[in-house]
Amino acid sequence: MKPILIFFFDALKPESLQYMPFLSSFAYQRRMRAELGHSVTCHPSMYSGVHPNQHLQWFVWRYDPVYTPFKWARVFQYLGFMDNLPARYFLHKCTRMFREENTSWFGVPLLVNLPLKYWPYFNVVEDRAWDEPGYLTEYPTIFDILRQQNIDFEIVGMVKGAGDEFVQIGQHEFKEIRPWTYFFLGSVDAYSHRYGQDAPETVERLRKLDRLVEVKYETYCLRVPDFDVFVFSDHGHIRVEKRVDIHTIFRCHGHNLHKFINLVESNYARFWFRNDDERATVERILSTIKEGFVLTDEHFRRYHLEMPDNRYGDLIFYLDAPAIFSKTIWGFSRKQRSMHGYLPDHPDSDGLFLSQQPLIEGTHAELVDVLPTLLDSLGLPVPDYVDGRVLWQRARR
Ligand SMILES: [Zn+2]
Repeated sequence: MKPILIFFFDALKPESLQYMPFLSSFAYQRRMRAELGHSVTCHPSMYSGVHPNQHLQWFVWRYDPVYTPFKWARVFQYLGFMDNLPARYFLHKCTRMFREENTSWFGVPLLVNLPLKYWPYFNVVEDRAWDEPGYLTEYPTIFDILRQQNIDFEIVGMVKGAGDEFVQIGQHEFKEIRPWTYFFLGSVDAYSHRYGQDAPETVERLRKLDRLVEVKYETYCLRVPDFDVFVFSDHGHIRVEKRVDIHTIFRCHGHNLHKFINLVESNYARFWFRNDDERATVERILSTIKEGFVLTDEHFRRYHLEMPDNRYGDLIFYLDAPAIFSKTIWGFSRKQRSMHGYLPDHPDSDGLFLSQQPLIEGTHAELVDVLPTLLDSLGLPVPDYVDGRVLWQRARR
């Protein structure tokens, strides 16, 4: 078993390598095809080796009136007059105090622009962090598999709220070398949302992170004579050039968006219908939004997103790049200069995969390839159900 060193960069684009001389020096470079979704879609794919239609995680929120943490909010079906933004902040805080702890990256976020009467329809999909045992209900993650095989690993930088990379990774010291060392660099995504990935602020950050990673790599080299290494990211970033106010669009057609059970996120508007009239009305209004379209079965098949039920929507409207919705469950999108979560076919949706060893043919790696490639380095068998491939050319499957 050769030790393996992996650096993960959230949202790093292949085009940004021009600012990163150390990463650019990796001889074998592929683009990384993203999943159609955000972090909550991409991370389960890379840690489980299966696509969303298998691990079943697509959005932060799903329809789940039975296990919702917001049962108490049912009373707001009758108390709508008390529903305003400060009340939502207050009641959200109370909910967090009384329910069992959610240790996932997003936790139980505030549903900013959603009436309280709809909160009891929804539940979060993730209840724990990616590396915690049993993160996915359907499949083991790479962390579960290694724990089960008694193979030790070290994760650096994935702790939420413990400071940025220069604190978490910069201060890290290699003690005992584990079979797998995983450095997690999360800030490129935040910088990209705020400034754009090609903005001076982000470019300066990229240069610094490149040096940080180079130092870590060299320190590791001094300790370990022979090891595998790869660098990867989960998706790219696309500059926002248009904001669509779906509330105004519904009003223009004589309807209040909040007459319908809905969740509006950066570039998705999802609906659950109580009757056929609701569906007809919503479909008619959405058909006037030229910047996007309703996802069809053909899309679900092509992007591996077929779901067993309507947990993610009876209807899912997708807003294409470079547009975002302005009033969402996350807020008012004012600081979002750049976004992801668009169709993987956009070249700017691509992340990257870098290696110093020959890789199998092809222009793209996929997120589901991460788990089998890592298992192969550790000399472990790749489970049959895995959708991804071992990317090392030396491997024969
Ligand atoms: Zn992001």
